[in-house]
Amino acid sequence: MTAPVIVLDIDDVLTVTRDKVYEALKLATGRDIHWREWSEYDLRPRFELSHEEVMDVFNEHDIINQVTPEPDAKPFIDACKSAGYSVVALTARGWHPNAVEDTRAYFERYALAVDDVHVCTPAEDKADYIRHLGNVHLYVDDHLRHITQVLARTTNVGQCVLMDRPWNQTVEPIARAYRLNDCLVYL
Ligand SMILES: [Mg+2]
Repeated sequence: MTAPVIVLDIDDVLTVTRDKVYEALKLATGRDIHWREWSEYDLRPRFELSHEEVMDVFNEHDIINQVTPEPDAKPFIDACKSAGYSVVALTARGWHPNAVEDTRAYFERYALAVDDVHVCTPAEDKADYIRHLGNVHLYVDDHLRHITQVLARTTNVGQCVLMDRPWNQTVEPIARAYRLNDCLVYL
């Protein structure tokens, strides 16, 4: 029998990305706005940048290769594996020219023992990928839109959890975690 799957978003779930993005945007724009003040996921209006300009900043600062794991990323992945789950790291980093290779290298570098890494292309959304994954026991993401799309458009996901960040505050009744190890209760 195929193992049930746990799907974990990468940036700001498995990986501390926000500190690098904050530093890069500060250097690029001269605007010192800490990520704790980012009340929205889309930073373009706040920094008055186009999508292309934001991507250029991320690439110039090599964000996806500079990020480091959340402290409980490795223990949480190991706990999922020990409990018999297959772990998929899922990202929408498809905008980056070397996203697949760089992201796989990151998981090797930090010995994060996920079973698969999937990089959605800009044309593919996470709900479309997840709904074909079979028995998904748990999905964790910090992007409110991805969580609401998965809740609305999939029937194969047991539990969706929003990783609490300043940019995903909402009155919608969605389960939240404040660190990855909060999700141990779902295993
Ligand atoms: Mg994320």
